[in-house]
Amino acid sequence: MSGAKLLHHWFLDGLARNPRGTALRINDRSWTYAEADRTARSWAAALHSGGRAPRRVGVLAAKSEESLLGFLAALYAGCTAVPLNPEYPVGRNRDIAAAAGLDALIVDPSGAAQLDEVAAAAPPLVTLAPRLGEWSGPRPGTPVLMPDPAGDRPPAQGPDSLAYILFTSGSTGRPKGVPIRHGNVSAFLAASLPRYDFGPDDVFGQVYELTFDLSMFEVWCAWSSGACLTVLNRLQALNPGRYIRAHGITVWTSTPSLVAALRTRGLLGGNSLPSVRHTVFCGEPLPEESAAYWSAAAPGTSIDNLYGPTELTIACTAYHWVPSPGSGTVPIGEPNTGLRYVLLDDGQVGADTGELCVTGPQMFDGYLDPANDTDRFLTHDGQRWYRTGDRVRRTPDGTLVHLGRDDGQVKIHGYRVELSEVEEAVRACAPGTEAVVLAVPGAAGPVLAAFVIGDDAAGRLTGTAQDLAHRLPPYMLPAHLWALADPPLNPNGKTDRLRLREEAARRLGRNLAPAS
Ligand code: AMP
Repeated sequence: MSGAKLLHHWFLDGLARNPRGTALRINDRSWTYAEADRTARSWAAALHSGGRAPRRVGVLAAKSEESLLGFLAALYAGCTAVPLNPEYPVGRNRDIAAAAGLDALIVDPSGAAQLDEVAAAAPPLVTLAPRLGEWSGPRPGTPVLMPDPAGDRPPAQGPDSLAYILFTSGSTGRPKGVPIRHGNVSAFLAASLPRYDFGPDDVFGQVYELTFDLSMFEVWCAWSSGACLTVLNRLQALNPGRYIRAHGITVWTSTPSLVAALRTRGLLGGNSLPSVRHTVFCGEPLPEESAAYWSAAAPGTSIDNLYGPTELTIACTAYHWVPSPGSGTVPIGEPNTGLRYVLLDDGQVGADTGELCVTGPQMFDGYLDPANDTDRFLTHDGQRWYRTGDRVRRTPDGTLVHLGRDDGQVKIHGYRVELSEVEEAVRACAPGTEAVVLAVPGAAGPVLAAFVIGDDAAGRLTGTAQDLAHRLPPYMLPAHLWALADPPLNPNGKTDRLRLREEAARRLGRNLAPAS
């Protein structure tokens, strides 16, 4: 039944449950479910004004009514939503706009500065800028429309059409688009919501940009339950204790890195977060100590560790945390209802340890650029399985434990980074040099360190650092950039990445875990 639901139908569930309740709160402004619905419908109608029929709507906005209600409006208009983060360099957003084939834009004031360039890459049929009515851009010929309050347009899509496209770091050096169908998210919500008792009295913290799929958990679990979604800005999210107390947040979602940073700085006292009753960690390994620290601060909360790549729609396994002695990593649990998995080891399935491969209704169909599909799918038992790249172990009771990755994908504060994409960017900024980028332990989780290799590398570091900031999102920027004339070589004559990693750790005064 839920498989036939479109993503915005889940908002309609919340609207039916709590029409006068608050759907969205940003700073001092709030929108009831009825107001949010009306606003999104009027923007959906504006997207179609003048008989235009856009298909893919770029939402160039962050933590604003345009980003959240604009996303909903795109769905109401029967379109695919493509979040664009105005904090990312304009060149990256331009590339994404072109790759996604955007033909409409919704812009908030923070996205205004990038509008011209993004619009040039993918000329929109319509640009909707609800709060920029007096503003003169964009380029001539691109209408900036004020919302049309009149319209109501029935959705034109089915469960197999695309709800949204997210772009993740790509190992080929370019971000790769992950198209997610309405049916994928509906399957996720149908499998996940029964784990909880979310309802109209709940207040969800909204921490992440819509470009990060963990935000989809926050938004759609809140909205499908008739709960309030309250948006934290960056500073509030870095040290959220006071905000959680002031707003009575009951459902908290974050990456474990955030808690690790709070713990390192000793920012949460025991029982300092009494309002929180459900906590969901996702995006990277959850250390036992972080779960215990959070539990001491929020004694009334359940804690779930969710795992999953964007390609399997938000999260595909879940584990209900129970305190355990020791200092390991919390298991990732069992697959969501409806999903099947196999462990692939040395080309064979059936082992108890191996690469996790998953199939089922949450699996995407393939990347926007099919060239990225190479080696990402396994054909087995007449089915197509997504190869996650994650090594896991199955315990005798069927619980999955995450062991790590063997490739160049790392997590920086929970954000997915392909080291080769950063290396490609460093090489492009310092032509003629080689680059090795590594993740090394920092005070609060891994940080990126880059070696720029070449005779004249030392003189090019400053320029390279400046250029990189125009190319990569903040979380992908190396925290350390070092020049190296001669790299260490391994017995095959290749740059020895292991020795460079040791060297990076030495320079930072850090110990490397034996396994890494
Ligand atoms: P993303 O596509 O940004 O959600 O990143 C997905 C990747 O993050 C996975 O393939 C894992 O490597 C990692 N990941 C996500 N959740 C967890 C978790 N709970 N434990 C360990 N690794 C995780």
